[in-house]
Amino acid sequence: MMKTTTLTLFLTLIANISLSQNAILLENVNIVNLEKKRIDKNKSILVVDNKIVDVSKTKRTLLKKFDGKIIDCKGSYAIPSLVDMHHHMTMGDFNFSGGGSTKKQLEVLEQLVLYGVQAILNPNNPIGVSSEVIEKVKDKANKYPFTYFTGPSIAPKNGGWGSYYVENNTEVIKIIDSLHSLKFRHVKFTYDDMSWLGGEHPIFDKELMKFLINYAHSKDMKVLVHVADLEKAKTVLRLGVDGLVHGIVTEKVDDEFLKLMQKNNAIYIPTATIYETSFNFQKSVKRQFKFDVWNSYTEKYEDSLTNDASNKQWNTWWPKAESLKYQLENLYFNTKKVQESGNILITGTDAGTPGVITGVSIYNELSLTQKAGVDTFEILKATIKNPLEFLGLYKYTGELKKNKLANLIIMKKNPIDDIDNINSSWLILYKGKIVSKK
Ligand SMILES: [Zn+2]
Repeated sequence: MMKTTTLTLFLTLIANISLSQNAILLENVNIVNLEKKRIDKNKSILVVDNKIVDVSKTKRTLLKKFDGKIIDCKGSYAIPSLVDMHHHMTMGDFNFSGGGSTKKQLEVLEQLVLYGVQAILNPNNPIGVSSEVIEKVKDKANKYPFTYFTGPSIAPKNGGWGSYYVENNTEVIKIIDSLHSLKFRHVKFTYDDMSWLGGEHPIFDKELMKFLINYAHSKDMKVLVHVADLEKAKTVLRLGVDGLVHGIVTEKVDDEFLKLMQKNNAIYIPTATIYETSFNFQKSVKRQFKFDVWNSYTEKYEDSLTNDASNKQWNTWWPKAESLKYQLENLYFNTKKVQESGNILITGTDAGTPGVITGVSIYNELSLTQKAGVDTFEILKATIKNPLEFLGLYKYTGELKKNKLANLIIMKKNPIDDIDNINSSWLILYKGKIVSKK
């Protein structure tokens, strides 16, 4: 009885939208259900305009009046689109292609959509360009992913990885107030002397850091930190930060760290791709290009990044990097530990840094998370549900069900068997429109 009612409703719905030009029926698709941790087999997903309007078992034969596009997905698997929570909006080469201007950053966003990325967070970008990009994205919301910025990376004078330097409370107030007035919801600072990479940089004074965190919280903004070693991570967590934009790599995390993370409900973004790149540039870049499902990079471009000269250039920047390869073991151990302890694991790549390539790096990041031993359902949660919840978007997107945005990736092979099966992707919809198809 129940089933008949659902079917009747569905057919009425079809009749009503039968003249719509913007309807797509994805037939016979296996849906990866992250909430229930199961595969819902042989479903039909009906998309009208930018949304999923129905998910059922209806067959094509029942839809004679349907004027929309019917795509047979027999044997294929559908997942919601991905999120890259650490993306600097350049392509990932030494020329920083895409960097700097609003126009170029928008091109990078378009590229991300082609790879099925529906949202990003950029944790270091000038305020002016960021707010211009936000306006453009708002104007053409169907063209670009949901885009969030922290503004510039805040550091003490001469501090590592900073692009905005503060020395006292007044300067902290000034930068946070300007971000807040432009409706930025996240702030990022760095707490890293870079000694683990052979660097020597001053780090924040504890009192100033405490003031920064509390002031941002008083404005209802979340505070994210660049930190690489365990003790410094624990220090900032004790002061109340909301997340780490890189994984801990210098040593294995302990129970105290995991409890502090839990207490703060903090997010953890391992960025395995940048660490792999730092510690073995050539190998990492080659690995990422294996995920160029959509062939958007030319062989020449790939060569320019995987040749010996590029490798040498990287090693000139970071002479100590390659010798730190052994630390990767800590990174992977920590990724698994964070997830297993019930903390919030989120994927991010650090794309835009030379050697971390836009689009392909997020597929690579999923693959490296699997290498860390994380369960495939949990990997997908880390790149879909967890970041979307953090960004406040999960009520609109991130599940393949009625009334959610039609942001999805369809692949031939089951990603739950092996996350690298994302390489069998053949169809991507963004806000109901086909953006990539094989
Ligand atoms: Zn970064």
